[in-house]
Amino acid sequence: MITEFAEKLFIDGIWRTGEGARIPVENPATGEVLAHIAAATPAEVDLAVTAARKAFKSWSRLAPVERSKALHRLGDAVSAEADTMARTMTLEQGKPLNEARGEILKLAEACHFYAEEAVRIHGEIVPNTTTDIDSLVVREPIGVVGAITPWNYPAELVGWKLCAALAAGCTIVIKPAELTPFTALAIASMVEKAKMPAGVVNVVTGSGSTVGQALVEHPGVDKIAFTGSSAVGLHIQRSCPTIKRLSLELGCNCPLIVTASADLDAAAKGAVRRSFRNMGQICIAINRIYVARPIAEAFVRRLAEAADRLVIANGIERPDADVGAMASAEPLNKTKAHLADALAKGAKLVAGGSAPEGDAFARGHFFRPTVVAGCTHDMKVMTEETFGPLVGVMVFDGLDEAVELANDTPYGLASYVYAKDMDEIRYLSSRLDYGNVAVNNVDAGIMNAPYGGRKQSGVGYEHGREGMLEYLNFKHVRIRYDEPKGR
Ligand code: NAP
Repeated sequence: MITEFAEKLFIDGIWRTGEGARIPVENPATGEVLAHIAAATPAEVDLAVTAARKAFKSWSRLAPVERSKALHRLGDAVSAEADTMARTMTLEQGKPLNEARGEILKLAEACHFYAEEAVRIHGEIVPNTTTDIDSLVVREPIGVVGAITPWNYPAELVGWKLCAALAAGCTIVIKPAELTPFTALAIASMVEKAKMPAGVVNVVTGSGSTVGQALVEHPGVDKIAFTGSSAVGLHIQRSCPTIKRLSLELGCNCPLIVTASADLDAAAKGAVRRSFRNMGQICIAINRIYVARPIAEAFVRRLAEAADRLVIANGIERPDADVGAMASAEPLNKTKAHLADALAKGAKLVAGGSAPEGDAFARGHFFRPTVVAGCTHDMKVMTEETFGPLVGVMVFDGLDEAVELANDTPYGLASYVYAKDMDEIRYLSSRLDYGNVAVNNVDAGIMNAPYGGRKQSGVGYEHGREGMLEYLNFKHVRIRYDEPKGR
C-alpha cells in the first residue's frame, strides 16, 4: 500500500504525482526509509480547495440519506481493508499491529456512527411574540473544511473530522502529519472505493508550516479542524488572516487521582494502560498520578511491576506486543529530558528508565515504560506534556489538595479518578476542571459522547452529536404568515 501512494496527492478524485519536494517517511522501529511523499505546492493546495468548493455545491444539497449511505460504504470499505491499512500504520507510526488494526476498526465505527447522525440533522421551531410568525432554526453545513492532524492516531484523528464533516454536508481537504501520511492516503483510497463524488475528500501531504499553513490562510477554507500541540493550535488561531470557524483539539498533562478507597489492582492496571499505551503518545495519556498517602507504597509497587511486565517489540514482528517504537526521535528525546529533570530534582526511578537492550532495538526509537515516584510540581513531568512513556507519582494527604494539584495546569482535556467511595467520586468529578473525567476506567473518549478540552487544551468537540455540530451553521428563518384568502 505504501509504495502505491508514494509521492501521490488525492485531489478531485484523482491520484496525482505531486510536483513539490520529496520528503522521506521512515519506519520508526528500524530507521529504514519506507517511501517518499511529495510536499504539495501552493498551486496544488489551491487545486484541492477549489475541488472541495466545487464539490460542496452538490454534496451539501444531496439528500442526507445519500450522504449516510456513502459513509456506510466508506465504513465497510475500511473494515474490509483493516489488515492492510493497519500494516501501513504500524510501518510508519510504530504501534503494534493489533493496536493499529483496532484503530482502523474504530475509524470504521466512526464512519457508521456519523452515517447514522447524517439523517438526524434536525432544526427547531421557536415561539414568537405573535402567533402569525414562525421562527425556524435550521442547520446548514459550514462549507470547506481544512483538517490538520498529528501522527499519534493517524486514522482516528483524520476519521473523526472527515466523518462528522461529510455527514454535516461539508467537504474536506486533509493535511496529515508528515510522519504518518500513508494512513491518510490509504483512507483516501477507501473514499474512492466507496464511490464518493470527486472533490468531497482531498488529501494533500507535506509539512505543517507550509502545506498546513496554506490551508489556514486559504480564503476558500471556511473552517480549520486541527488536532495537535497547543503551541501550533495557538499559532493557527493567531495566523488566520480571515474569520474562520476553528476547532482545536490540543495537548494536555493529564492527572490521575487514586484515593484511599480505590481498588489498587484496578487502579494500577488502568494507570499502566493509559500512561503507556501507544508509548504515552496520547493527548489523554496519564502523565502524573496523585495517590493517597496510606496506600501510596502499595500502589507504586503494583504500578512499577505492571510497567516492567509490558512487552516492547517491533510491532510488525510482534503484533500482540503491548508497546512498539515511538514515532520519532523528538518525543523520545523529550521523554529522556523530562526523566533527567525529575531525577535531578529528587524523584526516584521505580521502573524503566532506559532503552531496552538487544539488536532488535538498536536502530529504532524504543524506550522502556518508566515510572518515577516522589515527584513534586517543580518537575517537568508533573507540569508539561511529556508525550512519551513516562509517568510521575506524588503523594497527597487530603482530597482538596489532590484537586488543587490536579487542576494546577494550563490544560484541561482529560483527568482520571480511581475511588470506590461514592462521596469521593462525586466530590472529585465535579471539581476537576477538565472536559473529560473518567472514573474507575481509563477510556475518557467514546464515540457517542462529546470529547473536547478546556483552557489551553482547545476549543470545540469531536465525537457524538456535538462533534457534528462543529460542522454546522445555524440559520434563523423568520416567516410571517397572513390569514389565507377565502377562509
Ligand atoms: P503538532 O506539531 O502541533 O502538529 C500537528 C499537525 O499540525 C501536523 O500535521 C503538523 O504538520 C501541523 N502543523 C505544524 N505547524 C503548522 C502550521 N504552522 N500551520 C498548520 N499546520 C501546522 O503536533 P504533533 O507533534 O503532530 O502531535 C502531538 C500533539 O498533538 C500533542 O500535543 C498532543 O497532545 C496533541 N493531540 C491532541 C489530541 C486531542 O484530541 N486533543 C489528540 C492527539 C494529539 P507536520 O507535523 O507534518 O509538520
